Amino acid sequence: MEFLNWQMILEILILWFIIYSIILFFYGTRAIQVLRGIVLIMFAFFVFQKLNLQVVDWIFTKLFAISVIAILIIFHPEIRHGLARLGQQHLFGATLRDEDVDSMLDQVMTACENLARNKYGALIALEIKDPLANYVEKGITIDGKISAELIESIFTPKSILHDGGIIIQHGKISAAGCIFPLSESSNLNRIFGTRHRAAIGLSEETDAIIIVVSEERNDISLVYNGKMHKDLSRESIFTLVKEILKQKYAQD
Ligand code: ATP
Ligand code: MG
Repeated sequence: MEFLNWQMILEILILWFIIYSIILFFYGTRAIQVLRGIVLIMFAFFVFQKLNLQVVDWIFTKLFAISVIAILIIFHPEIRHGLARLGQQHLFGATLRDEDVDSMLDQVMTACENLARNKYGALIALEIKDPLANYVEKGITIDGKISAELIESIFTPKSILHDGGIIIQHGKISAAGCIFPLSESSNLNRIFGTRHRAAIGLSEETDAIIIVVSEERNDISLVYNGKMHKDLSRESIFTLVKEILKQKYAQD
């Protein structure tokens, strides 16, 4: 075919790669909704041009130019983090070994059970693939080995670090006192307060697994992908976390 030469194929491949990278870059951040909006506006723009609607077309051309600058300013933190995370590794780095997951969960669950027994609350986020660097940066750096004792002492009410959540990434407890986004969901049970809302909120924006200990009900829940799995046993949490990891890493 005359019009399908190798340059065109190369161009299609490059464009495909760029679009795919952009989507991957913003996936799981609030920017993905904006990206959807932009695609919609571009489509509308295209339709208006085809229909020869000159005034609307003129307004859209102007708005588009302004919005490019606005996006750069509004999403400056996401763009910076996106660039910083290129090549970064997650939960335990490139390889995910069963024994690493087991020993981490063992420490986390021992802490959670002791905290629940003492009627203390806790909020623990495990970074999976979407980076939590944004939240780590605004918390208090710990960068400590994962141990039940450390987690328990963080969430003991007298500790100045007990407010907010901790983040586990790269095989370590990287920060405490982290503030997560509160879910706006209206179909959330009224018995859940801000701790549980923050867990759901973070799971709506990222693929993190969040473990919550309730100080009111003294139970342990797991939150993933906007869903709350309530009042779980140690065994159920082990099973659920492993299932999620298996499913996430099977995609590689
Ligand atoms: P519990 O069942 O433990 O009472 P809850 O869902 O009812 O939890 P609250 O009683 O409102 O929630 O819990 C308040 C605690 O939740 C705060 O002291 C703070 O540690 C934590 N918290 C509240 N908002 C956030 C947030 N946005 N990010 C992280 N942690 C938060
Ligand atoms: Mg409460």
